[in-house]
Amino acid sequence: MNKSTIRILVLDDDSFMLKLLGHMLAGLGFTSVTTCDNGAAALECFSTHVNPPNLILLDLQMPEMDGIEFVRKLVEHNYTGNLILVSGEDERVLKMAEKLIQAHRITVLGHLNKPVLLARLTELMEKSVHMHAAPQSTMHAYSADELRTAIDAGELVNHYQPKVAVTTGAIVGVETLVRWRHPVDGMVFPDQFIDIAEDHGLIDDLTRVVLQGALAQSKAWQQAGLRLRVAVNVSMHNLSSVAFADFVAGAASAAGVAPQDIVLEVTESQLMLDQRAPLEVLTRLRLKRFRLSIDDFGTGHSSLTQLRDIPFDELKIDQSFVRGAWHDDTARAIYDASLNLGKQLGMTVVAEGVEDRDDWDFVRRTKCDLAQGFFIGRPMPAADLPGWIELWNARMLQLQADLP
Ligand code: C2E
Ligand code: MG
Ligand code: MG
Repeated sequence: MNKSTIRILVLDDDSFMLKLLGHMLAGLGFTSVTTCDNGAAALECFSTHVNPPNLILLDLQMPEMDGIEFVRKLVEHNYTGNLILVSGEDERVLKMAEKLIQAHRITVLGHLNKPVLLARLTELMEKSVHMHAAPQSTMHAYSADELRTAIDAGELVNHYQPKVAVTTGAIVGVETLVRWRHPVDGMVFPDQFIDIAEDHGLIDDLTRVVLQGALAQSKAWQQAGLRLRVAVNVSMHNLSSVAFADFVAGAASAAGVAPQDIVLEVTESQLMLDQRAPLEVLTRLRLKRFRLSIDDFGTGHSSLTQLRDIPFDELKIDQSFVRGAWHDDTARAIYDASLNLGKQLGMTVVAEGVEDRDDWDFVRRTKCDLAQGFFIGRPMPAADLPGWIELWNARMLQLQADLP
C-alpha cells in the first residue's frame, strides 16, 4: 500500500503543533501533508485542489472557526474522507464531537490527546492505511421499484436472533430481522431498505411478508417441541392504518400461533402528527393478548409519553446504552435509569447489543431480565437455530463454571 495516496491535511491554530505533527507524519513515511492554521485557509484546499485531502487531523479548539463549524462547512464541500480529532478536551466532549461528526457521515478514526504520543499517532495512521486499502462497501441506494420487485419475487428472508434469560441463559425467544438476498449485491441489511419501504408505501407489504414468514416459522418450531416467543419489528407507518390490528390477528390465527407467543417491537422512528391510529391499533393488539415491546428505548422523541400511554410488556434498552456501559459512566447512568423504570412499571427489560464477555457480565450483575447481542448469538437463518442452542448451552456451562 502506497502511503502517498493518503493526502493529509493538518489543521491546528498552534504553529508548534503543526510542525510537530508534520514532522511525525514525515517520519512515518507519509509524503503528502499540508498544514493550515485556520479553517478558512483549510477550506480553500477543497475548492481549489483537483485531489483534495482525504484525511484530516483536526484540532477542535481554534479561535475564529472552531473544529465543529469547520466540519459543517466541510460537509458543504462534499468531503468523503476520514478524520482524526486532536484535542486537549475531556473524553465526553471528544465523544460528543465524534458522534456529531459521524452523523454527518464522516468516519472518525479516533482521537489524539495533546500532548500527542507517537505510538498513538502510528496506531491511527495504520488504521487509516487499512481503511484506504479496503474501502467500506459503498452504500447502494435502491429504488422503490427494485424493492417492490424483490418483495414480490420472495427475495426477502428472515433471520432470527436469540433473546436469552440473563440468570439461567435459557433461550426465551427470537427477534425476526429481515434481509434482502439480492441476486447481485448479496445480503443487504435492513438499514439500506426499510426507509425506502416507508417512504414509498411498501412497508405494509414488507411487514406482511416478514410477519407471515415468522408465524410459519414459529409454528414449525412449536411442532418440533421448541416453544419460542417470536418478535417482529413493526414500523410506525404500519400503525397508521386501523386495519393493521385485524390483519395481525387474522394472520396469527391462520398460522395457528397464540398471540401470547408473538411480540411486536415498535420504534418511534418519527414524530407522528396524528397519534390516534397508532394508539388504537396498539391498544386493540394488546387486548387481543399480543405482547408489545418498546424498541431502542432512550433514543425516541417522546419515549416517556409512550410509556405513559401504551401498556408495553417489554422494554428494550438501546444498544448504545448497553455496549461498553461497564466502563462508560454516562451510558451506565442511562442504562440504570431505563432498567429501573422498566422494572417499576412491571415490564420485561431486554439489554440489546451485548457484544462481549464484559457486557454479558455487566447485564448479569445489574440483573437485567433478558439479553440479546453478538456475544450470545448473531441473527441467523432458522435452520441454524438448533445447532446454536446446543453450542450456547455448552458455553453457558463454561460461563457458569467461570463464576467466582
Ligand atoms: P433493531 O430492531 O433494534 O434490531 C437490532 C439490530 O441490532 C439488528 O440489526 C441486529 O443485527 C443488531 N445487533 C444485534 N446484536 C448486536 C450486537 O451485539 N452488536 C451490534 N453492533 N449490533 C447488534 P439489523 O438486522 O441490521 O437491523 C437494523 C434495524 O432494522 C432493526 O433494529 C430494526 O429497527 C430494523 N428492521 C429489521 N427488520 C425489520 C422488519 O422486518 N421491519 C421493520 N419495520 N424494521 C426492521
Ligand atoms: Mg427490534
Ligand atoms: Mg433495537
